[in-house]
Amino acid sequence: MQVLAEKLGNFIPQDKIRFREPMAAHTSFRIGGPVTYMVEPQNTLQLKQVLSLLKQHDIPFFILGNGSNLLVNDRGFDGVAVKIGPEMSKVSVEGNRITAGAGVLMSRVAKAALEHGLTGLEFASGIPGTLGGGIVMNAGAYGGELKQVVTRVTVLTPESEVLELDKAAMEFGYRHSIVKAKGYIVTEVVMELQEGDREQIKAYMDDLAARRREKQPLEYPSAGSTFKRPEGYFAGELIMKAGLRGYQIGGARVSDKHCGFVVNMGGATAEDVHRLIEYVQDKVYEVYGVRLEPEVIFL
Ligand SMILES: Cc1cc2nc3c(=O)[nH]c(=O)nc-3n(C[C@H](O)[C@H](O)[C@H](O)COP(=O)(O)OP(=O)(O)OC[C@H]3O[C@@H](n4cnc5c(N)ncnc54)[C@H](O)[C@@H]3O)c2cc1C
Repeated sequence: MQVLAEKLGNFIPQDKIRFREPMAAHTSFRIGGPVTYMVEPQNTLQLKQVLSLLKQHDIPFFILGNGSNLLVNDRGFDGVAVKIGPEMSKVSVEGNRITAGAGVLMSRVAKAALEHGLTGLEFASGIPGTLGGGIVMNAGAYGGELKQVVTRVTVLTPESEVLELDKAAMEFGYRHSIVKAKGYIVTEVVMELQEGDREQIKAYMDDLAARRREKQPLEYPSAGSTFKRPEGYFAGELIMKAGLRGYQIGGARVSDKHCGFVVNMGGATAEDVHRLIEYVQDKVYEVYGVRLEPEVIFL
């Protein structure tokens, strides 16, 4: 690992390589032990160099976006978190087309769309992840999803090949794309929007933000909806009707405000959250025969 750090230092600025970085500081759950190193490449070339070094030394790694859909183990991760964040977040707008780096926050892309009077990304303005993280899950809300606006995605394959994929090749589905199955890393995304009225776009974004504040427990750390929506049901409703509102294990609690959210009441461990998720799954299955599938990704 020491050798690795020195080699990384040959092409990544020192302040972008952090030793024993606690993941609790990089996840919206505020949970997670340290990774041995966290590195932030500034462009695709650096990303390629990092990956090739990690492979050469057989060092495990994972890609970190904004950590808003991740539950990281309390013991941390004996390997490297490769963060695709602010360093890879350039946004450019040409006509109706927005091209953005995978590390940009979706809220920022939505804001750029608003500033250019483009409609279609309002739904994404309140989703607290990066665009790359959003592509992985085909992030969506209030009837919108990235699939509706994405036309091309640039990825790095596990063999460090750059691929440009059109929408069909992305195999977008509900909280799904081809990215995870293939081990791709998203580096850039192109979206096509429609011309719209700035005031209306802004008003719709404000409306969605108000709905989130009213319905979601934004005052506590969480990873958003803990479970995917089961076919024909709403996870939160099933959990509530199974009598689990406010059910708590350690510091992890089924939100009183929105039962579809597991929240960190303070000091929750990944173990608490994990046990609570399993408890909720078992209880809902027992009562309704529906197996809830976590939307949150475990590391
Ligand atoms: C309060 C709150 C509200 C939320 N509301 C919504 C919502 O309305 N709709 C919704 O869909 N989600 C919602 N989420 C969940 C989350 O914001 C999204 O899933 C988001 O897309 C995750 O992006 P991220 O950058 O935080 O990814 P991370 O959590 O950092 O990573 C998630 C997964 O994606 C992988 N990944 C990240 N970046 C890349 C990349 N560039 N290339 C390849 N893999 C990558 C990671 O390895 C990991 O497996 C919410 C979360 C919170 C906390």
